[in-house]
Amino acid sequence: MHCTLYIVPTPIGNLEDITLRAVRILQEVDTIVCEDTRQTIKLLSHLKISKPLISFYTQNQLKRIPQIISILKDGKNIALVSDCGTPAVSDPGYYLIKEALENNINVVPLPGPCALITAVIASGLPTDSFIFLGFLKRKTGKMRKELEEVKSLEKTIIFYESPHRILKTLETCKEVFGENANVVLARELTKKFEEFIRGSLKEVAEQMQKREILGEFVVMIETEDQKIGSSEEQK
Ligand code: SAM
Repeated sequence: MHCTLYIVPTPIGNLEDITLRAVRILQEVDTIVCEDTRQTIKLLSHLKISKPLISFYTQNQLKRIPQIISILKDGKNIALVSDCGTPAVSDPGYYLIKEALENNINVVPLPGPCALITAVIASGLPTDSFIFLGFLKRKTGKMRKELEEVKSLEKTIIFYESPHRILKTLETCKEVFGENANVVLARELTKKFEEFIRGSLKEVAEQMQKREILGEFVVMIETEDQKIGSSEEQK
């Protein structure tokens, strides 16, 4: 192992969901670059691993990159992890990975937990082609525009959403896709209260209004065009 940046996915809730290879890489590297050190320390102590940590989050990432690149150039190996799931998927990582590649540093990705993939494979919505939007824009007008842009694609539309915005976001989705479009909300994936809430946008929005909203969500929408496309394909 010489001068390599490993991208290491970590569990999205269930600590058993870490690969044997990820554990070995975390044991072998010189330093671990992580988001919230408290989160990563919890995982590392569960795995009985002790390593120097460098905190790397959205607000400090650009400042940290030269330091991390210089450690790599000194011939040290680094693992990049995030608080949960796959680094660089709606998490910091992209700028560091780009900079490492520009500096001819070996970048090695490990496969592993990712909320997007975990959610879509059990959604019951088409998985042959989907589009992932990360977190949507917060302002309603911008969010609507972003959704309008993908509405006519015959693809399952997937994005991440937090509990305090989910109701408002479902309302915007109803305006854009129509209240009959199929939606699946995946919450608490891999955890004790894992749940998939399925139905039309109207049904799911009504159901969500009546209950306490806890946990982070993956939202998946089947567009009307997609339904027409797949039924025509089957003819
Ligand atoms: N990098 C992560 C990944 O690979 O999925 C995503 C990090 S992003 C900051 C966090 C978002 O991912 C949450 O707001 C939620 O939308 C989704 N997420 C993460 N863990 C989840 C879980 N256990 N159940 C449902 N959604 C989850």
